Amino acid sequence: MENTNFNELGLSEEIIKAIEAMNYTVPSKIQEKAIPVIMDGYDIIGRAQTGTGKTLAFAAPILSGIERDKGKIKALVLAPTRELALQVNEEVKKISSFSKIKSFPVYGGDSIDKQIREIKRGVDFVVGTPGRVLDLMRRKVINLENLQYLVLDEADEMLNMGFIDDIEEVMVSASPERQTLLFSATMPNAIRELSKKYMKADSVSVQVESKSKTATTVKQYYYEVRRDLKFEALCRVLDATEMQSAIIFCKTKKGVDELVESMQQRDYSVEGMHGDMTQAHRTNTLRKFKEGSLKILVATDVAARGIDVENLSHVVNYDLPQDTESYIHRIGRTGRAGNEGVALSIINSREFRRIRDIERETKGKIEKAIVPTVEQIFATKSKTMLETVKTQLATEEYKRFIPIIESLSEETSPIEIAAALMNSIYQREVSFNYAEDFKEESRDRRRDDRGRDSRDSRDSRDRGSREYSRGRGRDRDKGFVRLFVSVGKKDNVNASALLRFFADRANITKRDIGAIDIFEKFTFINTSENAKDKILNTCQGKKLDSRTVRIEVANSK
Ligand code: AMP
Repeated sequence: MENTNFNELGLSEEIIKAIEAMNYTVPSKIQEKAIPVIMDGYDIIGRAQTGTGKTLAFAAPILSGIERDKGKIKALVLAPTRELALQVNEEVKKISSFSKIKSFPVYGGDSIDKQIREIKRGVDFVVGTPGRVLDLMRRKVINLENLQYLVLDEADEMLNMGFIDDIEEVMVSASPERQTLLFSATMPNAIRELSKKYMKADSVSVQVESKSKTATTVKQYYYEVRRDLKFEALCRVLDATEMQSAIIFCKTKKGVDELVESMQQRDYSVEGMHGDMTQAHRTNTLRKFKEGSLKILVATDVAARGIDVENLSHVVNYDLPQDTESYIHRIGRTGRAGNEGVALSIINSREFRRIRDIERETKGKIEKAIVPTVEQIFATKSKTMLETVKTQLATEEYKRFIPIIESLSEETSPIEIAAALMNSIYQREVSFNYAEDFKEESRDRRRDDRGRDSRDSRDSRDRGSREYSRGRGRDRDKGFVRLFVSVGKKDNVNASALLRFFADRANITKRDIGAIDIFEKFTFINTSENAKDKILNTCQGKKLDSRTVRIEVANSK
C-alpha cells in the first residue's frame, strides 16, 4: 500500500499546516486508520500503545472538528498521570498552533486555584487526570454540557490505577451528543464493559500491531539467576554494559524504592520514579534523565508511561511484567527511530516459562545470556577507560598534572603510575560484589582468587589469608565489629560461601560485611554493629554444609 498523505485524511487546513510545521510527513498506522473514522463522526476504540503516534491520531481530528465558543469546553482528554496529561497538552498546543483553540492541562499536585482561574478565562480543550477533572466538575468550573469529544487515553492504566468510578462519573455527565474516543494498549474485560455501557453501538475498533511484534531493532536477552542473586546479577550486568540511558522496571512502588536504595548504596547514578513521589521530584528527576546527567531510572509501569523519553539504550526488567502486552510496551521504549535497543530480563528459574510465553506471543526471540564474569567486566571496562584516556590525551588539560606525576616518577615507573590511576578509576566505576559466584560450583577457590586479585592485589600480597574485603580500601571497616567464626580452611570454606551463609540467614546486605580472614581452623569476619546482632541471633549453632558454626565477638584487633 502506498503511503497516505496527511491531506488525504480530511483534516482542516490549519491543522495540516501545523503538522507540516512539526515536520511529520507520513501519517503513522494508527493515524491513517483512526483519523478518517473520527472525522466521520464515529466513536472509536483504538488499541495502540505509546509511541505509535496515537496522540496526534485523536488530537488532529478533534482540533479540526471544534471551534471556539465563548469558553465552552469542547474537548476533554482523560489521562492516567500528570506527566501524560502534560505531554498530551503539549502535543495539542503544537497541533493547534495555527488555530485559535486554547488547551489547558489540569492535574492533582498543583494549585487548583490557578487552574480554576485559567479555565474561567476561557479554555476549549482540557487535558487532565480523572481525579482533578472530577473535582473541577463538582466545583462547577468544568462543565461538559457542550462537549463534542471525550477521549480516554491509556484507558487500561486509568483502570489499573483505580479511576473507574471517576471515569464513569465523567462519562455520565458529559453531553450525550459527544463522540467518545478510547485508546488503550491492552483490552481487558473492564474496558470492553465500559465501552459497551458508555459508547455508541456502532463504534469502530482500530488496532495497530504492537511495535515490537515487527520491530527487529530490539535485541532481547534474559539472565536466569537464583532469586537471592538477582540484585548482584543486575550490578554485574550494569557494570559490564555501556548504557547511555536505561529504565529498570519493578513491579511495585516498594520494589522501586528498595532497588534504588540498594543501587545508590553501591554508588550508581540512579533515581526512582513512581506515583507516591511529589510532582516536583518527578519533574526534576525526569529533567536530569533527559539531559543525560542521570543514566538510570527505576520505575513502575504506570510511572514510566508518563515518561516521554525517546531512544533509551536499554530497558531492564528487574521484575517481569504481569502480561505480554506490558512487556511489549516496556521494550518498545528502546530501539526507536531505527536505533538498536537492548532489553534485558533478570529472572529466576520459575519465571522461565513466562519468557517462553512472551516469545511465543510476540513471535520474537529472547536469548539466554550469562551474567558477566569478573574478567569480562574487567575487559569491557578497561577498553572504555582506555578510550577515555585517549580522548584526554587529545586535550591539553591533563598536562597540569605532569609536575605532580613527575614528583612520583623517581621511585615508580610511569607505567605503574598510569596503571594505579586506572585501577582507582576502575574501582569507582564498578560496584558488583566480587564474592558472589554465579556458577553452580560455588566453591571454586581459583575463581574467587582471580576475582580478588584483579580488584586489589595488595590484599593477596600482604595477607595470605585475607579472603575478602568489600569497599574501597579498608577504611570502611572502621566501626565494624570483629567476629570469631569456628570454621576455617580445613572445613573447605571460602569467602563466598561464608558471605552467602550470613547474608541468607541474617538478612543483611553484603555491605555489612568487611574483611574476612580465613585461617586453618577458624575465621575472623568484620561486620557492622547492626549486622553483628542479626548474625549472632540467626546464625549461631547453624550448619554450614555439615559443620556447626559457633560465633563469638572477638577481641578487637
Ligand atoms: P505518541 O504515541 O502519541 O506518544 O507519539 C509518539 C511520538 O511520535 C511523539 O513524539 C510524536 O510527536 C511523534 N509522532 C506522532 N506522529 C508522527 C508522525 N506521523 N511522524 C513522525 N512522528 C510522529
